[in-house]
Amino acid sequence: MARILVPVGDDLPRQADLVIIGGGIIGCASAFYASRAGMSAVVLERRDSLGALTTAASEECFRAQFDEPENVRMMLDSIAVFEEFAEFVGLKDWDIHLRQQGYLFMTAGDPQAVRARVERQRGIGLTDVEYLDGDQVRYRFPVIGPAVTAASWRAKDGWLSAHELTYGFAKGSSSLFALRTEATDIRTDGHGVAAVVTSRGQIATRRIIIAAGPYAGIVAGWLGVKLPLVNLRRQKAVLGRVPQVPRDAPMTIDNDTGAFWRPEVEGAALGWALPEEPTPPSEAVPTDWTFPATVLEGITHLTPFWNEVAESLTRDNVFLSAGQYTCSPDNKPIIGPFAGIPGVFFNLGYAGHGIMASPGGSRLAIELVLHPEQNQQNPFRLERFETETTTVCREGMVI
Ligand SMILES: Cc1cc2nc3c(=O)[nH]c(=O)nc-3n(C[C@H](O)[C@H](O)[C@H](O)COP(=O)(O)OP(=O)(O)OC[C@H]3O[C@@H](n4cnc5c(N)ncnc54)[C@H](O)[C@@H]3O)c2cc1C
Repeated sequence: MARILVPVGDDLPRQADLVIIGGGIIGCASAFYASRAGMSAVVLERRDSLGALTTAASEECFRAQFDEPENVRMMLDSIAVFEEFAEFVGLKDWDIHLRQQGYLFMTAGDPQAVRARVERQRGIGLTDVEYLDGDQVRYRFPVIGPAVTAASWRAKDGWLSAHELTYGFAKGSSSLFALRTEATDIRTDGHGVAAVVTSRGQIATRRIIIAAGPYAGIVAGWLGVKLPLVNLRRQKAVLGRVPQVPRDAPMTIDNDTGAFWRPEVEGAALGWALPEEPTPPSEAVPTDWTFPATVLEGITHLTPFWNEVAESLTRDNVFLSAGQYTCSPDNKPIIGPFAGIPGVFFNLGYAGHGIMASPGGSRLAIELVLHPEQNQQNPFRLERFETETTTVCREGMVI
């Protein structure tokens, strides 16, 4: 049975099979798979609750429409978990508010490029992705405008509650989640990792997972490891009430620019990965009040009803938040052991995909904790990068 608490007295164990630094979605999913494998895991989270930093800022969407086989596999694995989540974590009636309303990637450009992408995706195992021409798009989704020439569509993509997913993984585990407990250092000895120092004392352990989101680079730095990561601000605008938004609309993306929207309760969630300079990790990422107007402009071209919405929108109907994508040079996560220090494992750098990839990525992370010798076959290993790489995320990357 999981324990989620602010430790007092002897609550914080002095020894654990595994210590996970960070209680976001990735740390919690890792703890779940660790419990399944029979390990006693302690998750350290310095905030007051789990999933309260980047995870809370997310658009909460998931898709299997990727171009690389390892991503398609990881997302299909993950979506299978979402579809059976309550049974999977053993929590009767646990509801992650799964909405499989699809992802529609639209273009006003060359339909052949979309067709080629769909064929490529089908070739790597995504058999249920569809090509739609402009008229088929408008037939299925009447709010889509005349400029659209083609789209790719997968009905089983969608969104969910990242909060319920995080707590479902935590509560379905048998791990201890220590809130308001900060990791401050990692000790090593001749055998590798020896202990994690925390704001509430030291925990002896031979294995750690660094799952500290935007702070992962700092935590790895305690060991002298320089990870090829950058943090980029990403904003989200939620519009409270928008009657024009069809409640059954999909996640709708202008794939020429990356601007997107989807229904959210009685309104919509909007976003766009605009160019940003890398920034240090932040506990309070600032927002920019020009962002909602910019996104509205971005989505109007292919979905004209947003013009009408923009004309009558008032500030008290707009809710703005921001977090950071933590990006590796290829925008894929870094998962698995660090060859330089036995007992150090990574599960980090998920960019805009940490919610959707949390089951698949964390299952792999725990398999590699148990069998580090399998890392050669792991497409997400750190060694795929040359050291000290500093390339930043591809701009315009879509969630
Ligand atoms: C605007 C926006 C939209 C997004 N939309 C999507 C989406 O639609 N779909 C999707 O899949 N992904 C999306 N993402 C990305 C997703 O939110 C992240 O990939 C995911 O939340 C990363 O989870 P995490 O657990 O690695 O990091 P976090 O959630 O940041 O968790 C890391 C935790 O570590 C803790 N921590 C750090 N250092 C320490 C320490 N020294 N001691 C103790 N605790 C520590 C932090 O307090 C934090 O709680 C979006 C991100 C943003 C910003």
